[in-house]
Amino acid sequence: MSDTFVVLGLDAADYDLVKKWDCENLLLSNHNGIDTFAHSLDVPATYEVWPTIATGVFPDQHGVTLPSSWEKKNRGFRFLEEIGTRLPKLLKSPAIKIKHSVEGHETKTSLDHMFNNGDVYNWPGLTSCPDWEQEGEWFSAVKNKSMSEQNFRRNHLANAGKGIGWLSGMSQAGTPVVGAHVHILDHMGHLYGKRPEKLESIYNEVDELVGWLHDQVDRLLIVSDHGMQTTATDDPQPGVHSFRSMVSTTEKGGLPEDMTAIREWVESRVKNNGEENMTEIDAPMQHLEDLGYL
Ligand SMILES: [Zn+2]
Repeated sequence: MSDTFVVLGLDAADYDLVKKWDCENLLLSNHNGIDTFAHSLDVPATYEVWPTIATGVFPDQHGVTLPSSWEKKNRGFRFLEEIGTRLPKLLKSPAIKIKHSVEGHETKTSLDHMFNNGDVYNWPGLTSCPDWEQEGEWFSAVKNKSMSEQNFRRNHLANAGKGIGWLSGMSQAGTPVVGAHVHILDHMGHLYGKRPEKLESIYNEVDELVGWLHDQVDRLLIVSDHGMQTTATDDPQPGVHSFRSMVSTTEKGGLPEDMTAIREWVESRVKNNGEENMTEIDAPMQHLEDLGYL
């Protein structure tokens, strides 16, 4: 255990669903709903909210936005998505990457953020997002029925485990503050908006993974960018993002009330580790060259 402050970005974790389905590990000792916002769409957009959480400013300032006339431009996105699913596998990734950077929109902010003093993984708007991009390919594949439901779920759970395991390793290393974004509940919510019994089973599996993480770390914040409309919550548009985002933490005291307040709230709890050192390699260099390491 360490002083590391761990931030799990749990995309689309819906506060009402987490409570409804008794996800006791997601509901840490101190939790609440938190105000989120819509910028380019009528509902909160993953792309735009995560950089706000990390930088503390709205999309106009952090610069990571979706095309403003989304409905019009969406045709272009869909076209690229179609190309991506029809090309041979080797060519798929570049097409998917194009989808994430069309129209001259920034995909990464140039601003400082709450992980500057630590490290961050797969966080939209901050880092490259290899897991999220891969999941985008799987979502297209499941839509086109070239990937089974079981495989889709297995792959997403594996990626969720990667993000959560990464946080545990970073915490063990004593990194002052670490964050990872895990997207599983977003894709599953879009898939199962009208089949809440299936979505509930995924919430329970994620709850198990987070229970494991909680055993590994002392100081944890879970935050979501938005929730998901479902038939279980009698929403008008099942499978569309909801405004029911959440925060949940091991820390005592007041919680941040909106997405722009999280950065300051986290930074006030991070302890600085001071200078980092360079080191020497003890093995003979020739041996390392023979091994192909150098
Ligand atoms: Zn999202």
